[in-house]
Amino acid sequence: MFMAKRKESGKKEEQGKTKKPVNKVEAASKKGRTAQKTVDISGWKPKTELGKKVKNREITNIDEILDNSLRILELEIVDALLNLEQDLLLIGQSKGKFGGGSRRVFRQTQKKTREGNKPKFSTIAVVGDKNGHVGIGFGKSKETVPAREKAIRKAKLNIFKIRRGCGSWECGCGEPHSIPFTVTGKCGSVEIKLIPAPKGKGLCCEKEIAKILELAGVKDVWTKTRGQTKNKVNFVYSCEDALRKLVKTKVQPEHFNTLAIAEGSLAEEQAQEEKEEGKEGKEGTEETKGTAQK
Ligand SMILES: [Zn+2]
Repeated sequence: MFMAKRKESGKKEEQGKTKKPVNKVEAASKKGRTAQKTVDISGWKPKTELGKKVKNREITNIDEILDNSLRILELEIVDALLNLEQDLLLIGQSKGKFGGGSRRVFRQTQKKTREGNKPKFSTIAVVGDKNGHVGIGFGKSKETVPAREKAIRKAKLNIFKIRRGCGSWECGCGEPHSIPFTVTGKCGSVEIKLIPAPKGKGLCCEKEIAKILELAGVKDVWTKTRGQTKNKVNFVYSCEDALRKLVKTKVQPEHFNTLAIAEGSLAEEQAQEEKEEGKEGKEGTEETKGTAQK
């Protein structure tokens, strides 16, 4: 009798448990897909030395922190220095009838226990300023909302800068719209090779990888992959590995100009100047062409 009762109650609990989180998943995923603007940091009380320096505006550029490999322990530091956009990657799939399987922000996993199944939710967040800085974070929790918050927090603390450039032999425009050289990244069985592409080509890669590259500020790239790319977690990590290699790789000084390498973010003034120079250059060439034709 006792066993039977226990089983019944267990079943009821299971039903209750399984039904509740599904609704939360839907609500949270809808929220997560829209790119949110970052919160203001006026009420922030810094706890670390680095945080205090940022708050007092002794440090105004994130590259000072990243170049000296100082540890960022407060996400407000990143919020204060960069204008970030965030996105969640589709790493899971929905459960249910008719095969389920539609792609979803949260990956749902279960542990079998005597009381019933204990579900957990995990997700991967990407933050970036679309100007040479990205961060990727993995968050896992019993509920969906804390998982998302953990992921975003980790992504902000994990922020790193990339090198952009124009490494395609078909282009040679001298603007940092692509990557300067080919890099490969690996995680588990997944290998990804990022190849510089000419201007206007777009991001020729898987959709979740494209989200990362877009937030990093890369506009044109070709990719080649190998291994179990359906495992999105390893796939995303391999892309992070490849992007980190852009800065790790040693470049000879004369190649900085030929490949138009830009490290980290381009200052707005610089970018404008470059655009103006580019326009002037183009106009100049057109004029010269015109005169030549005449
Ligand atoms: Zn180019």
